[in-house]
Amino acid sequence: MIPAFKSLRWPEAPAYVIRNARVPLPFLGSSAPPVSADAEGLVPADLHVAEGKIAAVVMGAARSADGNQGPSIDLGGRQVWPGLVDLHTHLDKAHTIGRSPNPDGTFNSARLAATADRPLRSHADIVRRMDFGLRAAYAHGVAAIRSHLDTYPDNAETTWAAASEMAVRWTDRITLQLVSLCPIDLLQDAFGDHVAALVAAAGGVLGGVTRSSLGPGPIPEADLTVMLDRLFALAARHDLDVDLHVDESGDPNANTLPHVARAALRHGYAGRVTCGHCCSLAVQPEAQALATLDLLAEARISIVTLPTVNMYLQDRVAGRTPRWRGVTLVRETRQRGILVAAAGDNCRDSFYAYGDHDMVDTFRQAVRILHLDHPISEATALVGPLPARIARLAGTCGSLEPGMPARLIAFNARSMDELIARPQSDRVVIDAGKPVTAAVPDYSELWDD
Ligand SMILES: [Zn+2]
Repeated sequence: MIPAFKSLRWPEAPAYVIRNARVPLPFLGSSAPPVSADAEGLVPADLHVAEGKIAAVVMGAARSADGNQGPSIDLGGRQVWPGLVDLHTHLDKAHTIGRSPNPDGTFNSARLAATADRPLRSHADIVRRMDFGLRAAYAHGVAAIRSHLDTYPDNAETTWAAASEMAVRWTDRITLQLVSLCPIDLLQDAFGDHVAALVAAAGGVLGGVTRSSLGPGPIPEADLTVMLDRLFALAARHDLDVDLHVDESGDPNANTLPHVARAALRHGYAGRVTCGHCCSLAVQPEAQALATLDLLAEARISIVTLPTVNMYLQDRVAGRTPRWRGVTLVRETRQRGILVAAAGDNCRDSFYAYGDHDMVDTFRQAVRILHLDHPISEATALVGPLPARIARLAGTCGSLEPGMPARLIAFNARSMDELIARPQSDRVVIDAGKPVTAAVPDYSELWDD
């Protein structure tokens, strides 16, 4: 009889062994064996933990051969994952839905509500909501977050000061990467120089959205080329990676993605650019979309899909049932060797009314929305090793390899179907080898009355 999950006691010793675990193959990185994964890609393994780090990952026959009699915990075949990587979030906007709601749930109303909310984001307000979000993420087992920050002439200083302060405050618990976000036409003048300098000072990533600040219409092609050249010149001046919001639209004419790829190639930026959303690829003629993917592969552009938010915002028309899921072409992208991550995006703001900074929830929803299953063996790559590589954090988070921090999530689930079927509210998060006791923050912290 295998003991119930809630009866398991985590060892308190600085060195111990997690026996009889199952680990999804994508998380094993270079320690992965060529064989012994089951049909769901799960590998039986023992994890040796010492001084807060993973000392060894022992698989296959070597497990029973090791005569270690020291402190251990037997998981009875349950799964262990590494802390996950949320590659695309908006911590500066999160938890503003109460004061700045979206009246009809559409993308355009979301944009207007977010613009109206911006003056309310004082230093103290941003710190309070970011800290709330980071504590939720930490309790859920997130190890690293990349957050876009609304960066406009009226708020750039305040927002970057507050977010940089949070990155320092959280550095031992969550690696926080910051990305600037504004329509790219705003970077054309001196403000562009200012933003690039702010980003460089914070060790961040230069970002933007490939639409005009003047309204929802497309940027004329000639202007787009000029704007992208300016953005890449700013990035190159400060040696910054680039992460853009691209074609977050169900309009097949939203087609800035190939322009971004060509600009990346022009500026010697192959392998340094990430594009989020790319929804319209899924509604364009097949040949056109696949030609764009070939171009992305050539420019080694990474893609981030945001399944929960895309499904929420795309194809939302009052009084009409949505007809498509809103997500980009993940399978076709992976087939070309392009790095792809699935991430959470907005949380409880005008762009998405829900969410709790929980990458396990994002994974469970991504599997369903994107059909990442049958077979499911590669799906976990999108929330661990691939986003870690894109964020240049490989070796510090997103996988389980000797020498890496013992940042783990233990689940009361052996199979992937058991894991995905339930919200995993009883998961045990381990940081530096020890169970995390902090719970998600109470909503009342954000109530002002
Ligand atoms: Zn976003």
